[in-house]
Amino acid sequence: MDAAFEVIVVGLGAMGSAATYHLAKRGARVLGIDMFRPGHDRGSSHGEHRMIRKSSFQLDGYVPLADRSFALWHALEAEAGQHLLHRTGEIWLVHEEGNPDYRAGIETSLTRGFRVVLGEAELAERFPGVRLGDGMIALYEADAGFLRCEAGIVSHVEQARQRGATIHLDEEVVAWSTDGAGVRVETRQGSYGADHLILTAGPWSEEHLRDLRLPMQVERRVNGFFRPSRPELWSVERGALDFLLDVPEGSFYGMPAVGDIGVKIGLSAGERTTARTIRRTIDDAEIALLRDVLDRYLPGASGPESRRMTCMCTYTVDGNFIIDRHPAHDQVSIACGFSGRGYKFAPVVGEILADLALLGATAHEIGFLSARRFAQSAVA
Ligand SMILES: Cc1cc2nc3c(=O)[nH]c(=O)nc-3n(C[C@H](O)[C@H](O)[C@H](O)COP(=O)(O)OP(=O)(O)OC[C@H]3O[C@@H](n4cnc5c(N)ncnc54)[C@H](O)[C@@H]3O)c2cc1C
Repeated sequence: MDAAFEVIVVGLGAMGSAATYHLAKRGARVLGIDMFRPGHDRGSSHGEHRMIRKSSFQLDGYVPLADRSFALWHALEAEAGQHLLHRTGEIWLVHEEGNPDYRAGIETSLTRGFRVVLGEAELAERFPGVRLGDGMIALYEADAGFLRCEAGIVSHVEQARQRGATIHLDEEVVAWSTDGAGVRVETRQGSYGADHLILTAGPWSEEHLRDLRLPMQVERRVNGFFRPSRPELWSVERGALDFLLDVPEGSFYGMPAVGDIGVKIGLSAGERTTARTIRRTIDDAEIALLRDVLDRYLPGASGPESRRMTCMCTYTVDGNFIIDRHPAHDQVSIACGFSGRGYKFAPVVGEILADLALLGATAHEIGFLSARRFAQSAVA
């Protein structure tokens, strides 16, 4: 077959843009395709920022991946001349009746020294904008912050292009198939051959991997942005930090105001949806809940609302990502199910996908992310 490209990457969101960059950096002939433009607001990777930290709520296997990601984000910043990673620190308020799944995460992060517990007096002195409710503890992680998410994707795509990657935008992939030892990708505009295919389609992944019956679901998320009524407490420029709240009202996350972007807050829950049918309208009650939570635990963070938006998270049944060779086709790699925690790992996921495509294996420990771990799927 006419393998004009060594690798085709379908989906240039967080993961695909990073994969395309790492492939181009290694000198591979790579074609990256997306049906929208880098940094668009239709998938899982928009809304100004994403949290990054070294500790993990999940399995320990994520810790080395986070470590590597910090290094790779800094390297990208240097190459692109962009400030992408803002190290603000992070406060986590946990109610004792909060998510029991997090207990192990708390213990591990304290034992391994990622986080420290702050008593009420120390919290009030260091972070006067944060209120500890009854029955709550505060954990602080200094090595945490946020990434500018759209800028991260644009930087990966631009750097890939500068290293010779071919980038096709506004082009929808409608089918892919294996063809002998290679692959063929059909789009609304054309047909392309390659030795290897990487599928990084985010919340659209199920459409490309239907045969595998992977146990994944897409969920709608709502974010609200507020200009802080007390910017001296709630702007990055004045030392404000990221926050996680596991409180009786639910699980929330957010970032302080930076530049003209207000304080952002989101609820870590939402209705089941699909990438094609998501409800983009947002009820006032959804924003009122976000404002109430800010007012209760982070007074001064909410003022006039400046923006509201929806986004999508894709969850596997065990909450862990999928990064693997396609179980039925060696010449195809897949990366999906990145939940509400995937963005920070994008550069290391890109590195791993480049390894899988060019070398057939990776030195990173990714066994726990295998597609074959799901007993009920078609790939067990
Ligand atoms: C509200 C919210 C908050 C989050 N907060 C955090 C956080 O604080 N920290 C963190 O680390 N993670 C966070 N996450 C999770 C993280 O953002 C996602 O896990 C990650 O961005 C997923 O990236 P992706 O590349 O898999 O998907 P996407 O970035 O959505 O990329 C998929 C791409 O594939 C393209 N595509 C799909 N189908 C086709 C097709 N047929 N043809 C052409 N192109 C196609 C799409 O256009 C899209 O560009 C959050 C997610 C949400 C929604």
